[in-house]
Amino acid sequence: MAIDFKRSWTDPDLDQFRDTVVRFIEEEMLPDDEAARKRGHVGHDIWRKAGATGLLCTDIPDTWGGGGGDFRHEVVFYEEMCRRSLTGMNASVHSIVAHYFLNHGTEEQKRHYLPRMARGEIVGAIAMTEPGTGSDLQGIRTRAQRVGDHYVLNGSKTFISNGFLAGVVLVVCKTDPAQGASGTSILIVDTENCPGFRVGRVLDKMGLKAQDTSELFFDDVQVPVTQLLGGKEGQGFYQLMGDLPYERLIIGVTALAAMEGAYEATLAYVRERQAFGQPIANFQNTKFKLAEVATEIKVGRAFMDRCVEDLVAGKLDTATASMAKLWGSEAQGRVIDTCLQLFGGYGYMNEYLIARMYTDARIQRIYGGTSEIMKEVISRAM
Ligand SMILES: Cc1cc2nc3c(=O)[nH]c(=O)nc-3n(C[C@H](O)[C@H](O)[C@H](O)COP(=O)(O)OP(=O)(O)OC[C@H]3O[C@@H](n4cnc5c(N)ncnc54)[C@H](O)[C@@H]3O)c2cc1C
Repeated sequence: MAIDFKRSWTDPDLDQFRDTVVRFIEEEMLPDDEAARKRGHVGHDIWRKAGATGLLCTDIPDTWGGGGGDFRHEVVFYEEMCRRSLTGMNASVHSIVAHYFLNHGTEEQKRHYLPRMARGEIVGAIAMTEPGTGSDLQGIRTRAQRVGDHYVLNGSKTFISNGFLAGVVLVVCKTDPAQGASGTSILIVDTENCPGFRVGRVLDKMGLKAQDTSELFFDDVQVPVTQLLGGKEGQGFYQLMGDLPYERLIIGVTALAAMEGAYEATLAYVRERQAFGQPIANFQNTKFKLAEVATEIKVGRAFMDRCVEDLVAGKLDTATASMAKLWGSEAQGRVIDTCLQLFGGYGYMNEYLIARMYTDARIQRIYGGTSEIMKEVISRAM
């Protein structure tokens, strides 16, 4: 009997939704992945198709054009992409941006952006990191100065996921540099017809090759005051902190899904590949390594499922979510490295899923808050 990694939180409706997701991924995403990795982005079409299929903003209420589901629907989509190393479409950042609108936006901002994001007509990005500062967000220098009914925005951001394709960017900036954290705000910037806004290069990364990660430049960009998220200055840090459990758990669940995908691919490979006149699956080392991997996944599943259930119930705290991000991303690195070894030289070839998974995995320990920052957050709760 095969080891069962069934999720505790699933149900027949979610299983059916998963079938829709898998069909979409296999028919629409997989065939273009190689080309997307060469291009450095997935293009707008696939976003619109995903929107039309009901795969975007699934946990945004239907009153705002979303799917009316909950976090489990989001997880299903991310899991099925990650287990196949389809990391081009950053639907999770898109969803995180939608949640900023949902939780902090004015009625008008929600009405204007959420339905279009759910349809995939505009892609969302959030720009915090700058060339000079990442972990220490208080050090950002991007400045928005109010002049009449506009802000004048100046600064630059880097490493921005979805940055090349984004139609809307939430820009974290200082509206009052003298006030430190409470002088930080988030401006909503429409990227189309936006004088002074420029997207830099699509950055050349070691992994996530199909995902557009870009620099963004703001040079005297005029942003109407109505584009201040929530309509009140100085709320940026409070808004950024609000959804941290959601954002961190996404990385945890995607890490675990990638581990499952790696395990399945490795199991298939070792049963087929022969050495010394027998499948390499027969060697005790292979069995023991895969037993360790399966154990990590099974143990991780119990914790991650509990986190998913707690998040849906509105009771996942930031420290526990940080543990999910920390443990998940670190375990993903360990497990995929172990699996790759069992592929021998083929594991080093990009045409093999495991090679792509290896390079895709490395960033999980860095973005969304590094492992070291996760430890800081966890230790503050002790
Ligand atoms: C592919 C990719 C996608 C990304 N997407 C986005 C995005 O969409 N939006 C966005 O805003 N940013 C994004 N980022 C940026 C990412 O969140 C940052 O790279 C990350 O937060 C780390 O910041 P940094 O690179 O400036 O590293 P630094 O902050 O300079 O850290 C360097 C090292 O110092 C360590 N360190 C820092 N502070 C401490 C401390 N207090 N204690 C112990 N160690 C510490 C770090 O853990 C790290 O090991 C992305 C990055 C990449 C590579």
